[in-house]
Amino acid sequence: MKERIQSKKLFDEAQSLILGGVNSPSRSYKAVGGGAPVVMQEAKGSRFTDVDGNEYIDYLAAYGPIITGHAHPHITKAIQDQAAKGILYGTPTMLENKFAKMIQDAIPSLERVRFVNSGTEAVMTTIRVARAYTGRNKIIKFEGCYHGHSDLVLVAAGSGPAQLGSPDSAGVPVGVARDMITVPFNNIEDFKTAVEAHGDEVAAILIEPIVGNFGIVEPTPGFLEEVHSVARDIGALTIYDEVITAFRFCYGGAQNLLGLTPDLTAMGKIIGGGTPIGAYGGKLEIMESVAPLGPAYQAGTMAGNPLSMAAGIACLEVLQDKDVYTTLDFLGEKLENGFLELIKKYNIRATVNRKLGALTIYFTDEVVTNYKQAENTNGEDFSKFFNGLIDHGINIAPSKYEAWFITTAHTEADIDETLDIVETVFKENF
Ligand code: PMP
Repeated sequence: MKERIQSKKLFDEAQSLILGGVNSPSRSYKAVGGGAPVVMQEAKGSRFTDVDGNEYIDYLAAYGPIITGHAHPHITKAIQDQAAKGILYGTPTMLENKFAKMIQDAIPSLERVRFVNSGTEAVMTTIRVARAYTGRNKIIKFEGCYHGHSDLVLVAAGSGPAQLGSPDSAGVPVGVARDMITVPFNNIEDFKTAVEAHGDEVAAILIEPIVGNFGIVEPTPGFLEEVHSVARDIGALTIYDEVITAFRFCYGGAQNLLGLTPDLTAMGKIIGGGTPIGAYGGKLEIMESVAPLGPAYQAGTMAGNPLSMAAGIACLEVLQDKDVYTTLDFLGEKLENGFLELIKKYNIRATVNRKLGALTIYFTDEVVTNYKQAENTNGEDFSKFFNGLIDHGINIAPSKYEAWFITTAHTEADIDETLDIVETVFKENF
């Protein structure tokens, strides 16, 4: 691997132009010892090439959206064809109907849908709709789950499960944070305690049905069923944040796999085929709270833009192939088994959580089922691992809380090569 001289130069320049040198803090290498992030030049299939000419196998998948691999020919053609016909109309288009129908067919709880531009917008709006519909203000969320950067969801847990939140970011008013209650994931007792204290003020329970933001963590059996049942009892809505999970584990949402029906759902990432997108929707009676039919306001110049609609339709068309999810599972299992063998062989304190093609290596002995456990994993080991991987040509997120995402462009040969590199990194650094 060549030295990353151009990357360093470009990052130096970026720091004088763009705050912190990055347009999203998660792209910085601050959590893994600092240094210049790799500046990528081109991406195709499962591979990246950086500005110094180094090649990487990519498991970042742009934090999830790129499930079909980079520059997928069908999606690229759809974007090119649409660009030639105009990229933004500010009027209704046929594409919006077609795409909304595809999404609704896949996720039946979306009796009505709205397209927006990011996952942040989608979640933010579901909260507004839930508040408008119920006439209540408080929201319960689960510790460690990320729901975008709007004020209310940037709130940390209080010291006890029934306590109200405090802001996790400067600039979020304490008064706003007071309306967020945070409880540990997979802990029904703490959830019930919070509900006992605030039940009749709660507008909605905001849920990542399969967590993707402190690694990949599935709900323990019965947990979400109980949450739904309690929500019904207290007259609160359930909101599924499926920004990561929609179309990741099946052609539909995590709700399809779990057999549970939320009142509202927020989506993003995969449904845009790599273009900026968000979407939300749910029960007709609840969605009728939104303007122009109802009093809850949401709008957007770019919302439902033809380019994102065309890319999204093309992406879902690729995902309709019956083999997609079995292939992701097959490759995911191969990678997981390879990790587990190497962890054993080199006596590394690490465990793996996986759902199909999404997986996380945690540097700990413990099985991770909640945020506290993820927080307690070894950050220094993760840093060594991350830096070893990037130096040998594997690109993953620079954070111990993120997942590896396998795409339909990855091959068995990619996985074999990856495992060889992981072995080298374990040998050299652990
Ligand atoms: N919800 C979840 C579950 C997410 O993972 C993210 C982004 N990682 C968001 C919401 C916010 O989406 P965006 O970055 O598109 O605003």
